[in-house]
Amino acid sequence: SHPAMQALRTGQPVKDVVMGISVPGRDRTWLMVTATPIFKQGRLAQVYASFEDITQRIRLGNELQRHATTDDLTGVANRRSLMGRLASEFERVQRHPHLTCCVLALDLDLFKGVNDTWGHAAGDAVLLHAARLMGRATRQHDLVGRTGGEEFTIVLPDTSADEACALADRLRHSIAVTPVPHAGVGISITVSIGVSALRPGQSAESWVKSADAALYRAKRGGRNRVVQAEAA
Ligand code: GH3
Ligand code: MG
Ligand code: MG
Repeated sequence: SHPAMQALRTGQPVKDVVMGISVPGRDRTWLMVTATPIFKQGRLAQVYASFEDITQRIRLGNELQRHATTDDLTGVANRRSLMGRLASEFERVQRHPHLTCCVLALDLDLFKGVNDTWGHAAGDAVLLHAARLMGRATRQHDLVGRTGGEEFTIVLPDTSADEACALADRLRHSIAVTPVPHAGVGISITVSIGVSALRPGQSAESWVKSADAALYRAKRGGRNRVVQAEAA
């Protein structure tokens, strides 16, 4: 209920309640509300309410939060944020062992060649492009993160190994057939992907390691391919 009404009902002061209000024609406005009951001869006479517009402060907080969790170049999650999500999905499966969760380890193929041939700015454009395709190939509750220079990690909650492999291969294909427009040319790029489904009793560390090992085998196998982790 509104802090002023609450102060009126309880006779107690209500401090620093944050309220979001919709003002027509404006972005959401955030108010910090304090309501103080005033007593006259022991009886509640009135309530003083004060409002402070804290919209700017909230926006700044959101902006700082975004900066701390996303990769500046590609806009996907940064390494720390991705690892945090991985840990929480791991914990979720420990609590609910009937759930499944997969992780993808991705590494752009022969990326050094892109920088060497087309320059670093082209390399950056390729990274951004690949990240966009990853975002498009995944669902709302999946998380794409840039975990290294040209390395990405994708967490796929509630996803079986087969579903993850299918998604990974669709993504691999879309990257392979979509050249990156840059300075009037189209730069072709491919990606190698390791897929690992979290197994019962497996540690979070070994889960990620097995995705990396599968990625390594994809590279050794000729790149531009998806390899599923072996059951240890
Ligand atoms: P492989 O298929 O075996 O993965 O070959 P690769 O060339 O992709 O592998 P390598 O690890 O040798 O090269 C990765 C390159 O990625 C090296 C580095 O110059 C480049 N790189 C890393 N971060 C960035 C970045 O932010 N922007 C650009 N343009 N290049 C980057
Ligand atoms: Mg690499
Ligand atoms: Mg690479």
